[in-house]
Amino acid sequence: MKSWNTSLQANYGTPTIELISGKGALVTDIKGVEYLDFLAGIATNVLGNAHPAIVRAVSKQIATLGHVSNFYAHPNVLALSKKLVAMTGDKSARVFFCNSGAEANEAALKLSRKTGRTRIVATKEAFHGRTMGALSLTGQPGKRDPFKPLIKGITHVPYGDMGAMLKKVSKKTAMVIVEPIMGEAGVIVPPHGYLQALRELCDETGALLVFDCVQTGMGRTGDWFGYEYSGIQPDVITLAKGLGGGLPLGAMIALGGAANLFQAGDHGSTFGGNPVATAAGLAVIDTIEKKGLLPRVSAIGVELMADIALIEGVQSVRGAGLLIGIEFSSPIAKMVTKVCERNGVLVNGNSETVIRIAPPLIISDREVAKFLKVFTESVHEVSKKVSD
Ligand SMILES: *Cc1c(COP(=O)(O)O)cnc(C)c1O
Repeated sequence: MKSWNTSLQANYGTPTIELISGKGALVTDIKGVEYLDFLAGIATNVLGNAHPAIVRAVSKQIATLGHVSNFYAHPNVLALSKKLVAMTGDKSARVFFCNSGAEANEAALKLSRKTGRTRIVATKEAFHGRTMGALSLTGQPGKRDPFKPLIKGITHVPYGDMGAMLKKVSKKTAMVIVEPIMGEAGVIVPPHGYLQALRELCDETGALLVFDCVQTGMGRTGDWFGYEYSGIQPDVITLAKGLGGGLPLGAMIALGGAANLFQAGDHGSTFGGNPVATAAGLAVIDTIEKKGLLPRVSAIGVELMADIALIEGVQSVRGAGLLIGIEFSSPIAKMVTKVCERNGVLVNGNSETVIRIAPPLIISDREVAKFLKVFTESVHEVSKKVSD
């Protein structure tokens, strides 16, 4: 792909596939080759590609009114925020719309400053985005180090380690931010009771508890946000990825007392709450509800994880719903990713030993079966090659 390297910056690797169309969980490249997409635009295309509900809502909106800015209200912004508030189960929750996950976390970071405190505790290996504020929250040295100095006062402790949290979180802490399940780090599920213990600690110290649900949100784990199983509520939820069903849309939802921390003039985004993006967001939620996708996601996830665990060479399988991490007993993840691609299935090699899958929530039983077949064969092919 020569023109990629001459006209685009080198910050991404050079892709080997150029996609031009898609329908449901299938995508087609410029040569006409079809792929079963088990990454779904990095967990964004929750309804797959070209879903009729999104196509209809977006087409109607762009043909009616494309953009208004936040100088004016729009029915979609009002409807989507109302919906999100209801989904939190907290009537006092209030929403700020933006365009990406990084922006949602930037908003949370700024919101935390309004507590009058400045210290923040985040977790090692966590991913919260790439802009300077979000990168300061991100716990991956490889992404952070070239851009230092970052924002001061942010400490990173090992994920899932309550002892480390207890040492660092104090009455001076403005916020604690964690992913309910770490996505980019390789689908890491925290130990039992972690989120509940964080809630207690934040209640004791007065720190805001922020859940970055950018990847776990919008039904991916079988719940709306991904933390519900814990039975507790955070003070702030950040969303993006699946929220716009493939369109750029993010949100920072503040609950309870945190809902009123921002005052007029404190924050803003020109495109935040754009009518077309919010039309897509409404279509996503409406479709997930009408098709009863949440229980289906949970059920498929459980079965799929059990089936993947049986494949020889797979050491462990973890995750929730359709956010699944597959750990191999040897460093074959990148090779398996390549072979899957050649065999018509797109997955994501997070590291040398982990593959992440995040298919659209509308995935059919037949597509799940096809994935299992191709994935199993690909693992066998690579294992054989490695042992030869
Ligand atoms: C992807 C991701 C982000 C960043 O989202 P962008 O839209 O790329 O800025 C933040 N947090 C989590 C948990 C993510 O998975």
